[in-house]
Amino acid sequence: MIQWENGDRNSGSTKTVVPSLGSVVGEGRTEFNESFRLPVTLLREMNVKNKDAATFQKNCLELNLSRFIYNFMGEISEQVNQKNALGWAARDTSGLLSPFTFSRRATGEKDVTFKVMYCGICHSDLHMLKNEWGVSTYPLVPGHEVVGLVTEVGSKVEKFKVGDKVGVGCMVGSCRSCDNCANNIENYCRNYILTYGAKYYDGTITYGGYSDVMVVDEHFVVRIPEKLPLDATAPLLCAGITVYSPLRFYGLDKPGMHVGVVGLGGPGHVAVKFAKAMGVKVTVISTSPNKKKESIEHLGVDSFLVSRDQDEMQAAMDTMDGIIDTVSAPHPLLPLIGLLKSNGKLVLVGAPEKPLELPVFPLLLGRKMVGGSNIGGMKETQEMLDFAAKHNITAEIELIPMDYVNTAMERLLKADVRYRFVIDIANTLKSSS
Ligand SMILES: [Zn+2]
Ligand SMILES: [Zn+2]
Repeated sequence: MIQWENGDRNSGSTKTVVPSLGSVVGEGRTEFNESFRLPVTLLREMNVKNKDAATFQKNCLELNLSRFIYNFMGEISEQVNQKNALGWAARDTSGLLSPFTFSRRATGEKDVTFKVMYCGICHSDLHMLKNEWGVSTYPLVPGHEVVGLVTEVGSKVEKFKVGDKVGVGCMVGSCRSCDNCANNIENYCRNYILTYGAKYYDGTITYGGYSDVMVVDEHFVVRIPEKLPLDATAPLLCAGITVYSPLRFYGLDKPGMHVGVVGLGGPGHVAVKFAKAMGVKVTVISTSPNKKKESIEHLGVDSFLVSRDQDEMQAAMDTMDGIIDTVSAPHPLLPLIGLLKSNGKLVLVGAPEKPLELPVFPLLLGRKMVGGSNIGGMKETQEMLDFAAKHNITAEIELIPMDYVNTAMERLLKADVRYRFVIDIANTLKSSS
């Protein structure tokens, strides 16, 4: 049942109740105090046939409806077309997730609506749930590694059709007019809109992929290549592009190069896979020696350095062309800079809460660079997925049911996951849970 109060727009007038597809009328009074009654069938008819505003307006004019009724119907029709959605949300800084019903906007002319199949759990979800970056709003439905199947497309959508396998990563909007947007690096647009917890153009707050349905402008939707499994591909949409983009941009993608990867979590383990596929020699630098055996045998890492082992680190000085540093906790940069050859590049993709200390001397004495990188643009995200399909790259995942998510968050906090949790949304997100 959809309810709309016309309030101050038409004071002293009526309240209108429009059952979703019932036979009751919409009614009220215009600004000239004329009463009106609108059959819902009329509303439905106009709405189903006329997705775009211009046709809708023309229809209203033909029916001799006043401006007021036109606006009125526009609002009701938007509400009638809204989709009921079910997700899991945190309500406060405890970060505890529980079922949450909300609505998604109607499929706009450039929108792709899809049924969510799987959603990866990114470490930043954990930060956002607990408002550790101070920007969270509640209720918060996280999730920016979202994959699913298209169920509806708007009239002006060109790239997708019903049934397509699609994905959405960290952003769902950007200004589309700045230099960054024009150069396909929407991820550096000052006005980009995050997939969850951000304000969308229509003033609503964005909700992420821990939910059963998504409605996203097609520009921010990518195609999942046919041969990739949906569940293990989900993490590529954040963790994957986070490391793929800097490997390319900083030129650490040339066969025969030697690249270090710091931290063997979600982004780190896919960095290894991408770098290997590019023909690069990969050394993992980690605090946990217990990951050594598996990373060499299973991920194909060429060598493994335990960062606390001074002898190992000393022996590897001046050997790397670049390093992708995925660690988001405070850590010393000096030992990492030492690992670089002259002209080497240390690229930070983790986001420690406090500034790191930057030793300048070792940079000068070797013309070394320290840089950063944040996900990737839409064009490059698609390129990354196509590259992954070509080289059979997916994430190593632990598939979990929706109601395990709070436990998963506790484990993630202790880095107790190999290497990414993915929620089986389609099979386990149920309204009764
Ligand atoms: Zn992420
Ligand atoms: Zn922009």
